[in-house]
Amino acid sequence: MELVPTQAEVLTLLRESGALRHGHFIYSNGLHANEYLQVPLAMRNYQQARVLTVGLSRLLRANPELRAMIPLLSVVAPATGGLPVAYGVCEALRAHQVYWAENETAGEPMRFRQFMEVQPGEKVLLVDDILRSGRRLTELRKLVEDRDGEVVAVAVMIYQPNPDCLDFGSLPFYYLAKLDAMYSRDSTSCEMCKNGEVATKVLF
Ligand SMILES: [Zn+2]
Repeated sequence: MELVPTQAEVLTLLRESGALRHGHFIYSNGLHANEYLQVPLAMRNYQQARVLTVGLSRLLRANPELRAMIPLLSVVAPATGGLPVAYGVCEALRAHQVYWAENETAGEPMRFRQFMEVQPGEKVLLVDDILRSGRRLTELRKLVEDRDGEVVAVAVMIYQPNPDCLDFGSLPFYYLAKLDAMYSRDSTSCEMCKNGEVATKVLF
């Protein structure tokens, strides 16, 4: 495998680890899909996790502007899915530091731990395992920017945009593989529901 794994190599790794599943799934927001990805299943294996995070760091390093910022760069993630990505990417890049924001209770806004301060002008790379709705990374971006940090790029291992996926405007955006799941808004528009295929509800 090359230093940056190809889309096909990433998908093979995800399938073999059980992280990428085909079937009939209903997401918590009500969307039906024929594909479900739970990246932490792939991140259980440390060597696989390294292939993915080192690959992503190589894409980032190829951007000369980002490369110049690496010694000052903070890698910031939404907990918990983004944590192994943040540590792996920070290690591979030899970036400055890692921290994260989290929801203490489901439905509450994300926040940093007490005394975790973003410095004004701090260069921040946002990372996560997967970008699906963009909601969490958008919330995290606002948390950083409200504290006068400067978000310089967004990087995720897998880009699986749903139909309402938020975008990040002109920010550089990196991913290792893109998945185009077949989404339906509800059971009446879902072919798998019409065919009577049993659905699995997924939480994340
Ligand atoms: Zn369905």
